Amino acid sequence: MSSSIAPRPTRSSPDHAGARRAVVIGSGFGGIAAAIRLRAKGYDTTILEMRDKPGGRAYVYEDNGFVYDAGPTIITVPFVLHELAELAGKRLEDYVTIVPCDPYYRINFHDGRTFDYSGDPELLEAEIAKFNPDDVAGYRRFLAYAAKVFDKAFTELADHSFHSVWEMVKVAPDLIRLRAEQSVFKRVSSFIKDPALRQVFSFEPLLIGGNPLRSSSIYAMIHYLEKTWGVHFAMGGTGALVRGLVRLFEDMGGKIRLNARVEEIEVEHGHVRSVRLVSGERVEADVVIANGDVANTYRKLIRPEHRRKWTDRRLERMRYAMSLFVVYFGTNRTYPHLPHHSIVLGPRYEDLLGDIFDRKIVADDFSLYLHAPTRTDSSLAPPGCEGFYVLSPVPHLGGGQDWDAIKEAYADRILASLEKDHLVPDLRKHLVSKLIFTPKDFETQLDAYLGSAFQFEPILTQSAWFRPHNRSEDVDGLYFVGAGTHPGAGLPGVISSAKVLEAFL
Ligand SMILES: Cc1cc2nc3c(=O)[nH]c(=O)nc-3n(C[C@H](O)[C@H](O)[C@H](O)COP(=O)(O)OP(=O)(O)OC[C@H]3O[C@@H](n4cnc5c(N)ncnc54)[C@H](O)[C@@H]3O)c2cc1C
Repeated sequence: MSSSIAPRPTRSSPDHAGARRAVVIGSGFGGIAAAIRLRAKGYDTTILEMRDKPGGRAYVYEDNGFVYDAGPTIITVPFVLHELAELAGKRLEDYVTIVPCDPYYRINFHDGRTFDYSGDPELLEAEIAKFNPDDVAGYRRFLAYAAKVFDKAFTELADHSFHSVWEMVKVAPDLIRLRAEQSVFKRVSSFIKDPALRQVFSFEPLLIGGNPLRSSSIYAMIHYLEKTWGVHFAMGGTGALVRGLVRLFEDMGGKIRLNARVEEIEVEHGHVRSVRLVSGERVEADVVIANGDVANTYRKLIRPEHRRKWTDRRLERMRYAMSLFVVYFGTNRTYPHLPHHSIVLGPRYEDLLGDIFDRKIVADDFSLYLHAPTRTDSSLAPPGCEGFYVLSPVPHLGGGQDWDAIKEAYADRILASLEKDHLVPDLRKHLVSKLIFTPKDFETQLDAYLGSAFQFEPILTQSAWFRPHNRSEDVDGLYFVGAGTHPGAGLPGVISSAKVLEAFL
C-alpha cells in the first residue's frame, strides 16, 4: 500500500484535466473539515452527501417556527475551527459568530441540589465546597492531572496518525504513566470523595458516547479543555456553523452535492477508482475520504474481496457506543430561570450506566441533557416561545427495543419528569411543537451501524492504533474522517481527524 495520497496519473477528463480529484462521502464536521483541507492543498474536491442538508449529526429540523439543532450544541476548542478558516486565508468571524456560554452547564441532582459548572475557578471551587469543602484540594489535583493528560492526548496525539503499530508502542509509556488503563470514574474517584462530585467530574465521556466507568482516563482531558477554552455556542445554532463552513469551502472553489448517496466505492487493483451513486452515476476520484459510519462504509460500500482486515466478522465483534433518544420540543412561553445547558442526573449513576451499556435495557429512570438554545439566541423560536431538546442515553439497537412502539410513551415520561423536577414547569400544557429521534432513526437516516450515536465505544482497546485507521488498511487511496476513526467522536475529535490526513497529503 502506498504511503502518501500522491494520486495516480489522472485519467483524461475535459473538466478536470490534470487536477487531482478528491471525493468526500458525507458532510459531517469531519467531512467538511477534510474537504476544506483538501481544497487548500489544491485538490478538485467534491462532497457527496446523501441527505438534503449538510451537517450529518448536526442536521437542522424546522417545525412551526422552531429551529432545532439535531445534534452537537456544545462547542469546545474553538481554535480547531479558526484553523480551518485560516487555511483558506479567511477569518471564521466572517462566516459565523461564536459566543461563550456561562455557566457551561447546570447539573441538577435528583435530591434538588444543583451544581453550576463554570469556567471561573473561584466560582467553581465555591460550588465544590457547597458539596464537600475537603474535595477542593482533591479537585485541584484532578485539574493538574487533566492538564497533563491534555498535553499528551490532545496536543500531541489527537492529530497524530496512528497508521503503524510502532506509533502506539512509542506512546505506551506515557499512557501507562497517565494511568490510561483506569476509567475516568476510577481516576476521578481517586481525587474526589463526594459521590455527587464524582458524577460531576466523570460524566463527560457520555458526551462522546463513552461509559465513564469504562472509558480510559485520557478522556478526563475534556474537563481541562472546557476549562481552558470555554464552552461556546454558534449564533443561529450549530446549523449556522455548518452553513458557514460549507460557504467557506465553496468560496475556496469546492463543490457539494446533496441527495447524492454513494452505493459503492469502486476499487481496481487495490486502489480506489471511483464512487457509484444510487442513481447509477459514477464519479471518478484519485482519493476518497469516507466520513460516513466506518462499519457500514466497509460493510456496505466496499466489496468483501477488497477487505482483508475489516471483514464483516471483525466489524461485528467491535464494541459500539450507546445510542440516544432525543425529543425536540417547543413551548409557547419562555423559561428564563433555565441556563442554556442543563444536565439532569437521575437517582442511579453506576447502575444506570450498566443498564445502558451492558444490560442494554431501557430503564424506568434516566439521566438527561436539556438544551435550551433560545436562552442565548431567541431567533431560534417564534417570539415569546422557547425551543428545546432533551436527550436520554439509551442502548444501541443490540438491545432489541422496538422503538417505533415505545417512543411516544418514553418521550412522554421524559417530558413529565422535566415538569416534575420543576425544570420546565407545565411543559406539556404549553407544548406547541414536538419531534422524536430514536436509535432506529440513527440507523435509517444516518446509516449508523446498530443505530449507535457515536460509532465505536471509546475504550482504550478501541482507541488510536486500535481504531480503524484514518488511512484505510485495506484500500489504497481511501481515507477515513469522523467519529469512527482516530481520534474519535465530538467536534474537536472529528475536526482533528481531518488534520491527521496531513500526514499523508
Ligand atoms: C444528539 C447528539 C448530540 C451531540 N452533542 C455534541 C456536542 O454538544 N458537542 C460535540 O462536540 N459533539 C456532540 N455530539 C457528537 C458529534 O455530533 C459527532 O461526533 C460529530 O458531529 C460526528 O461528525 P462526523 O464527521 O463523524 O460525521 P456525521 O455527523 O456522522 O456525518 C456523516 C455524514 O455522512 C453522510 N453519509 C453516510 N453515508 C453516506 C453515503 N453512503 N453517501 C453519502 N453520504 C453519506 C451522512 O448522511 C452524514 O451527513 C453529539 C452527537 C449527537 C448524536
